[in-house]
Amino acid sequence: MLIFFIMPSKKLYIKTFGCQMNVYDSERIAHLLAARDYHPVEDPDEADLVFLNTCSVREKPEQKVYSTLGRLRALKRKKSKLIIGIGGCMAQQEGETFLRRFPHVDFVVGTKEISRIGELLDELEVYGRRGLAANLSGRVDPYVRLPFFLPASKVVAFVSIMQGCDNFCSFCIVPYVRGREVSRPSREVVEEIRSLAGQGVKEVTLLGQNVNSYGQTSAGEMDFVGLLGAVQEIPGVERLRFTTSHPKDLSPSLIRTFGKFPKLCEHIHLPLQSGSARILQRMNRKYSPEEYLEKIHDLRRSCPGISITSDMIVGFPGEKEEDFRASMEMIAKIGFDDLFSFKYSDRPGTRAARFDEKVPEEIGQRRLAELQTLQRMITQEKNKAWEEKEAEVLVEGPSKAHPQENTGRTRTNHIVNFPRENLAPGAMVRVRIQRVYAHSLRGEIV
Ligand code: SF4
Repeated sequence: MLIFFIMPSKKLYIKTFGCQMNVYDSERIAHLLAARDYHPVEDPDEADLVFLNTCSVREKPEQKVYSTLGRLRALKRKKSKLIIGIGGCMAQQEGETFLRRFPHVDFVVGTKEISRIGELLDELEVYGRRGLAANLSGRVDPYVRLPFFLPASKVVAFVSIMQGCDNFCSFCIVPYVRGREVSRPSREVVEEIRSLAGQGVKEVTLLGQNVNSYGQTSAGEMDFVGLLGAVQEIPGVERLRFTTSHPKDLSPSLIRTFGKFPKLCEHIHLPLQSGSARILQRMNRKYSPEEYLEKIHDLRRSCPGISITSDMIVGFPGEKEEDFRASMEMIAKIGFDDLFSFKYSDRPGTRAARFDEKVPEEIGQRRLAELQTLQRMITQEKNKAWEEKEAEVLVEGPSKAHPQENTGRTRTNHIVNFPRENLAPGAMVRVRIQRVYAHSLRGEIV
């Protein structure tokens, strides 16, 4: 008689902090660990391995990582076999310190060492050794070594086209923790997207810290417009997006692609950061408010109705009241569809952290509240214009908050919820918008 022993699969909980780049990395990590029989769960208490994919771009997510680690210490006391791993920008930056400060952390893996996660687990499981892999130099892009993978029914996907950044904005830690800019070969990007399209993906977002400069540091490589053109030709892909763009590299030819490439959606996220020329200079952003306005004008001329979102920082060191007013004026003048706004906080290791003339906390708070009030009014006004209009919506699946409803996005990246009618994810429907909210629209299929 043959007796089969079926090993129960192990459970993986990944908590992702920060940007889309981390979301993308988390998907790759889940895939690597699936090959080692780890299956995702929603509850850390159930997990055999908890992985925190961290972010050090702002202070708040960093604090959240530390408080989560505190909770995990208690969990590990109850479940001594629990494995805890740390990845992302904080892992890259802190490295060894993490292992020293948190004895309950088993391994730390940097942003360019993701493909070594299996090695670290082997060290731990076979030799009981805690491990660190956080080298930035001399690494090739680990993504290319991973087979392409998608959970079933996924219709939108992010694809990394480059890593790192060369811009060194004075407030930003990214160039130090993600390294210098490296573009992935276009051939591999196209191949990955073909594979995703074959698995049912309809919408692709090309991802990088500064996608506009794609290919510039790789001899013989196509530029970003060329890459968009190549992706636009892939059968099965119906929508194309990209993020993030640096205004200084938003070329006239890239602006012209909006309205010219039918699959390219009418939305751009273009971080402004400040409306004051003096502060932009201190931020090392390399554009003036006037140049930014000109790009907005050109975008709207090339693609009327394009939705434009942005990032703003208030309370940057040296920001005076008139600088803040300049930011408010720019916001009012441009009328962003939405805005992600933050109060400046020092990121150790950046140039701005060493700047003097720090803005007192209460002034930063007040400016942030004022700016957010203005943007809320603008967003409300913009969203109102959607009432009774029809929009093409790509169905992504049931809404998380209201599973009896479907959720999807317009080409302008507005979230739309509408009653479910046995629609499979990936369906493209027309929805008449009936109600507008602060962060979503609601309608009915036409
Ligand atoms: S462009 Fe500036 S803000 Fe964006 S990742 Fe690079 S350094 Fe950071």
